[in-house]
Amino acid sequence: MSNLSELDFIWEISQTLSCNVLSDEITYGLQNIFRKYMGVDTVNIIFYDNEQEIFLNFNSKTPFPTQIEEKIYKNVFQKINSTIRLNFILNDQFFVINDDFHLEYKIKLNKGSNKFYIPLMQNYKCIGFLELLQDFNKEDAVTKDMVKVLFIAASEVASVVTNKKLTDKISKIADFYKAQKNIAKILETQYEYSFLIPVIGEILDNFAKDYFAYIFMKNKNGKFELAWPLRYDKKRLKPMLEHVSVKNRITINQDGTAVLFPIYFENILQGAIIIDGKSRKILREDIDFLMQLSIQTATTLDKAGVYAEIEKYATQDALTNLNNRRSLDLRINQEVAVAKRKSLPLCVMMLDVDFFKKINDSYGHYVGDVVLKKFAQIINDEIREYDFAARYGGEEFFIILPSTTLNEAKLVANRLRERIENENFDISKFNDDVKFLKITTSIGLVSLLPDMDVKNLYVKVDKALYEAKKTGRNKVIVL
Ligand code: GH3
Ligand code: MG
Ligand code: MG
Repeated sequence: MSNLSELDFIWEISQTLSCNVLSDEITYGLQNIFRKYMGVDTVNIIFYDNEQEIFLNFNSKTPFPTQIEEKIYKNVFQKINSTIRLNFILNDQFFVINDDFHLEYKIKLNKGSNKFYIPLMQNYKCIGFLELLQDFNKEDAVTKDMVKVLFIAASEVASVVTNKKLTDKISKIADFYKAQKNIAKILETQYEYSFLIPVIGEILDNFAKDYFAYIFMKNKNGKFELAWPLRYDKKRLKPMLEHVSVKNRITINQDGTAVLFPIYFENILQGAIIIDGKSRKILREDIDFLMQLSIQTATTLDKAGVYAEIEKYATQDALTNLNNRRSLDLRINQEVAVAKRKSLPLCVMMLDVDFFKKINDSYGHYVGDVVLKKFAQIINDEIREYDFAARYGGEEFFIILPSTTLNEAKLVANRLRERIENENFDISKFNDDVKFLKITTSIGLVSLLPDMDVKNLYVKVDKALYEAKKTGRNKVIVL
């Protein structure tokens, strides 16, 4: 390398380090520069993780060194750390840069392959090293200037690596608190496990992006059953489920690529979360975070059970603030009795959101909930004060229209259907790409006839709604 190309080399290194953000882009960029100027085939940025006491490759595709590499790295790291003076290793030879490291000093390179280790220093501490592997050599010797240039490059790499690790850590902590808050927050809208678990699953998956999350719950027979997502690798994960106990905080599989966190409350094992890295080891810092999240999950599920119990005796639906199914059952009996006694007309309507599952599947359950809330609000806006609206089930709603003829009720139903069709459901707070959702609703409508009882009403309105679905949706069917 001439003086000029040494300057170019440093210039390009510094450009690559300042223009790229992702660790893979940085590694790839460095690789190209080292290849161009020094004929180096492979550049590895290896750093030592103090907390986990392991070596990690900065390249995110292959973070964990093989056992053989790990052994080499241990040796290199020990040697590099054996003196406070700057040093490097070239082909197993250890060079300390002291006063007699003369300018004209040249180190012969092998004809075949060369291995170069340059320490990465940060605040007088060695945080790792650069590994340069060269299978053929352009240079036949390393000059002192080249060594100097390599040390400048290494020092820049060290700063970038340290910075990147810090930012990653901070954003991980931020993600963790967000996930924890979100798991706690679901209780504001839902108490049912069948809805809570998928939402928690989504949150865990989102937090541990490099891994796969599974939630198992114990069934009535005390056996673990997959609750989220739809499938899991039985051969791989089932053995882990067989050894869970409340005493063990976590269970890690043999090669550290899967971790099980028990979900227990009231000291009883209720379920388990498994985080599977497939071929990737689960990092210890991630295990700590995930353990906290699984504790939060247990708390949320526990509270949900208690709240659900309380809600049984309440009258309002927690998500929509409409009346719940229980109060609908009470009220419809009263209204039907009054209508019959006083010979007053009465109509009932059942609404079901069309293709609602698609909304959950495309935008997540949060967005689904937001849409349901707004839907309920629209119902509330459109009905009269003495009408009675309830959430019948998931995305099904029921309206009792006392003292209302069928013709009047048709007007209400159609107005409601049109209002829903024209509404822009604002999801901009939850989605960057899509600001508004459009939905439609199918409605079944029936009026009370003298010979009908409450049960007949329910059956008939359900049938009307079914007709509306079957014949194309977004319509009102009167039976
Ligand atoms: P169709 O037009 O035939 O009614 O299709 P659909 O997708 O609306 O009907 P389906 O009954 O297949 O799906 C209803 C979905 O509503 C499934 C369930 O996960 C979802 N759901 C029920 N309750 C809630 C809830 O409280 N919140 C959310 N986000 N989703 C819910
Ligand atoms: Mg439905
Ligand atoms: Mg539906």
